[in-house]
Amino acid sequence: MLDLALVWSDHVLCQLWPNRTNSRVAKSPAKMMSSESAEQTMAQAADQSDTLRNLPLPNSKSAAAIATQLRQAIMDGVYVDGERLPAERQLAVALSSSRTTVRVALRILEDSKLVNRRVGSGTFVTFRPETGDDDVAEVTSPLELVEVRIAVEPHMVRLATLHATLRDLDRIDEALNALEAPGISAEAFTRDDRTFHQAIADATRNPLMISVYRQINHVRGHRQWNAMKDKVLNEASIADYNKDHRALYDALRARDADQAVAVIDRHLDAARRQLSAVRGGT
Ligand SMILES: [Zn+2]
Repeated sequence: MLDLALVWSDHVLCQLWPNRTNSRVAKSPAKMMSSESAEQTMAQAADQSDTLRNLPLPNSKSAAAIATQLRQAIMDGVYVDGERLPAERQLAVALSSSRTTVRVALRILEDSKLVNRRVGSGTFVTFRPETGDDDVAEVTSPLELVEVRIAVEPHMVRLATLHATLRDLDRIDEALNALEAPGISAEAFTRDDRTFHQAIADATRNPLMISVYRQINHVRGHRQWNAMKDKVLNEASIADYNKDHRALYDALRARDADQAVAVIDRHLDAARRQLSAVRGGT
């Protein structure tokens, strides 16, 4: 299976992570920043089913809680620098909240310098990791990225089989269900694959592993991979990759570490071989 890792989306990524809090979020009054017509345009332009399918309900409907979820998604590399967030209308529906509350949440993110709101265009991520991730993303090839994943993920899935909570497994299941949506686009698959593998990283309960995998996802989200996605993802390859995803989830749920490692080995090896073929022009 060609892993989504290979593919980098310029577009909307939507899995939100509700499990952390952010003490840095500022308090800010609501302020209308975009016009109704701009919202309508954005809503029409976006692929609603892809964009919203994977959004879990927040623990709270407060603006601060929504801002925290969005912030975490940005930190996790679900949304990358320069990427447009879903429209207010879409976020409000997905989060069972009001547009006013969503607008306040976006304002909080703007005050935190995580996004920039442009009237008539939408809300764009402006977060750049301070660790030089972007520089690394610029110079890391898809093949080099897979090499790192091959080094990291087998032990990562082993740890996940040991430490995943039931809630972790449910989150992995949610991401898997999104990946298995009929007719999923290459873009959505790319996004949801990052979410799926990050959920496994989170299930290790190892803060450094979680952080390392976020860095990997930042590299995966780099725009240079956008073209690669169309070369390696099609209905057949997505189906193959999803067989691995399902098998990996089953192994995690069964706490079968050896099986989980075997699945991730073949998952990444398939990605490596497919990338090598693309690079070689075959
Ligand atoms: Zn995958």
